[in-house]
This record gives sequence, structure tokens and C-alpha cells, in this order.
Amino acid sequence: MTSSFNLQTPNNEKKVLLHSCCAPCSCSILQRMIESGIEPTVYFYNPNIYPKEEYEHRKKEVVRYAQKMKIPFMDADYEIDGWLEAVQGHEEDVERGKRCTLCFEMRLGKTAAYAAENGFKVFTTSLGISRWKDLEQVNHAGRRAASLFPGLIYWDHNWRLYGGQEQMERISKEENFYRQNYCGCIYSLRESIRRSLAKRSGDQSAR
Ligand code: SF4
Repeated sequence: MTSSFNLQTPNNEKKVLLHSCCAPCSCSILQRMIESGIEPTVYFYNPNIYPKEEYEHRKKEVVRYAQKMKIPFMDADYEIDGWLEAVQGHEEDVERGKRCTLCFEMRLGKTAAYAAENGFKVFTTSLGISRWKDLEQVNHAGRRAASLFPGLIYWDHNWRLYGGQEQMERISKEENFYRQNYCGCIYSLRESIRRSLAKRSGDQSAR
């Protein structure tokens, strides 16, 4: 079953640059944009993702979906050294803390620069659709990035609304997308391993 959307972009701009973090988080956004007559371009800039194999895997899934939907895909560089430098001193921060702010600012900052250099007046991101993320933290980084480029607008649409998360789950199943079990960086991977080890030892002591 497909629902029909009629999204209103800021200033009714037809072209929108979508910063995509992964295929599951981007699929319902892209589908809704297409249904609304918007012309999205996908921009993949995620130097936070560790290891490189994981980065390539997530990117491949986004490319696969963009090709299927006939949506242009722009690949940015994997600048993990720059990312590690940007978050230096925040290795032990909890998720949603300062490290994540710096991470969002770097990714959306480069997206905004690409948008401004390539004639886009509006950009947005898939980062906020996940319930694991602090939406206001994402939006704050987006607005900050846009403010550096005169005339550029960050579209702070809440993609979770009107069943956005359910639609994302449904499309991800239909497309058999790879589903990661950690946010992306080496520190979130470490946290995910810690959680699963704690769960396993909890399960064993409960036996
Ligand atoms: S937990 Fe996610 S948002 Fe936070 S720094 Fe790591 S990759 Fe970025």
C-alpha cells in the first residue's frame, strides 16, 4: 500500500539536496519527495562511519536505491582522519552528546557547501528520522550550516511524522536493506559491543 504525499518545500523549491546517512533512513524521505513532485539529489558524506568496509556497505545500499528510483547520487570523500580530528577529546561522550553535535556539524557543513556551490537553495538530511537521534540537535546543526551560505535554507521537516518511521521499516524490508546495529563511528561500535556483551552476561547469569 502506498500513501500519497504533497510536501511543501521552503519557497516551493523543486530541487532539494538530501544528505543521506544510510538507505533505511533515506528511503521513505525519497519516496515522499518523489510523490510530491520534488526533484531530490542524494549526497553521501559520512566520514564518521567505521570501518571502511561498513562505510562501503552502507553507501552501496544507498546507491542501489537511488538507481532504482532514478535519483542522482553524489559521492563525497571518506575523510575519516578529518572526522577523528573534529571529535578529538570527545571519545568518551555519550550518544547525543557533544561528539554527535560535532559529527552532525561536519557532515551538514560539507553538505551545505556542496549545495551552495551547485545551485541548490534547499537541503535537508535523513539523520533526524531515526528515533535514536535528538531531532533538535540535528536541526540545530543543519541551520548553523545553512547560515554560512547566504540564501541557502536548511529544510527542518520532521520526517518521522505521518508514519515516516513505519514507512521506512516497510520499505527497508521490501528492499531487503542491510540494517546496521550501531550509529556509525568507532565509538558507537564500541558501545554497541559493550551493550551486547552486557546483555549476554546478563542472559547467562539469569539461566
Ligand atoms: S554516535 Fe553517531 S552521531 Fe554520534 S558521533 Fe558517532 S556516528 Fe556521529
